[in-house]
Amino acid sequence: MAELGLIPADRDLVEGVVAGRRRALAKAITLVESTRADHRERAAALLDALLPHTGRSLRIGLTGVPGAGKSTFIEAFGLHLIEQGLKVAVLAVDPSSSKSGGSILGDKTRMERLCQAEAAFIRPSPSAGTLGGVAEKTREALLVCEAAGHDVVIVETVGVGQSETVVAGMTDVFVLLQLPNAGDDLQAIKKGIMELADVVIYNKADLDATAAERAAMQMRSALSLLHPASPNWQPPVLRASALRGEGIAAVWRTLQEYRDTLTASGELAEKRRRQSLDWMWQLIDAGLRHRFREHPAVKSALPQTTAAVADGGMTPTVAAHRMLNLMNRFF
Ligand code: GDP
Repeated sequence: MAELGLIPADRDLVEGVVAGRRRALAKAITLVESTRADHRERAAALLDALLPHTGRSLRIGLTGVPGAGKSTFIEAFGLHLIEQGLKVAVLAVDPSSSKSGGSILGDKTRMERLCQAEAAFIRPSPSAGTLGGVAEKTREALLVCEAAGHDVVIVETVGVGQSETVVAGMTDVFVLLQLPNAGDDLQAIKKGIMELADVVIYNKADLDATAAERAAMQMRSALSLLHPASPNWQPPVLRASALRGEGIAAVWRTLQEYRDTLTASGELAEKRRRQSLDWMWQLIDAGLRHRFREHPAVKSALPQTTAAVADGGMTPTVAAHRMLNLMNRFF
C-alpha cells in the first residue's frame, strides 16, 4: 500500500517493537492511541509494518464484576506465566474510563508485583472516546504487544454493559471470573455473558470451599443447557484462589487445552478470520458514518431535516433517503 509509508523515526519504532524493547512498545501504543489525524496515519503504517510479526500469542479476554478479583487473578496468573518463561501483556477495555478519566488499570496499586516484572507489560484503558473507539485502540495495542513477542495478551474488562462482547470479539478465549456468594442464583449473571464464556472460574474459593463448589455445580448445569460455541469444547468451571495462588496452574493448563483443541479443529483460525472481517466492517461503518456527518451538503440540510422528522412533517424513511442521496455527490 503506497500510502502507508513509514517515516524514518517510525521505522526505528518498528525495529524496537519487534526487538521487544519496552520503550518502543510503550511509544508505539501511545501512537496508536492518539486521535490526531497525522498520528492515525502513522499508526496505520506502523501496524501494517508490524502485521507480519503478529498472530502468535494467545489472546485471553477476562471479565468479572468489580471486586471479583480480576487484578489479583491477573497478577497471580501473569507471574505464573512468567515462571514458565513466557511474556505477558495486560490491556484493558474500560468504557467508564472515558467518562471518569480514570481507568480500571490506572490505579498504580493494582498488580504491583506484575508491574515490576521485566517480562510483563501493563497498559491502562485508553481514556478517550466511545466504547467503539476504545475497543479499536485496544485491538491495535494488542497487535503491537504481539509483535513485541508477548506470548499471552490478556484483555480485561469490567463486567458491566457491552464491553464483554467487544472483548470477546477480539480474543481467542473468554474467561468469566465469578464470586461464589454473589447472590445464590445464576440469574445474577447476565445470560449474554454466560454465552460468551469459554472458561468460568470461581475465585475466592478459599473463603468458603463448599459455597464455591455449589456455585460451580450450578454453573456447570446451567452451561450444559446452553448451545456451546464449539462442538469440541464444553466450557469448564474451575475454582481458584487468586489471593493464595491456588488453582492458577490449572487455569493455564485449561487455556492451553482450549487453544490446542480449537487449533486442531481449525476453529481458532476461523474465529480470528471472522474477527478480522468484523473489525474491518466496523471500521467501514464508522468511517461512512463519520464521512456522512462531515459532508457539507449533509451538514447544511441536517438541522432542517431532523426538525421536520421530529415535528412529523416528514417521514423518517423519506428523510433518510434524501439525506443519503446527498452523499452521492461525494462518490
Ligand atoms: P477486581 O475489582 O475484580 O480487580 O478485584 P481485586 O483483584 O481488586 O480484588 C478485590 C478484593 O478481593 C481485594 O481485596 C482482593 O485482595 C480480594 N481477593 C481477590 N482474590 C481473592 C481470593 O482468591 N481470595 C480472597 N479471600 N480474597 C481475594
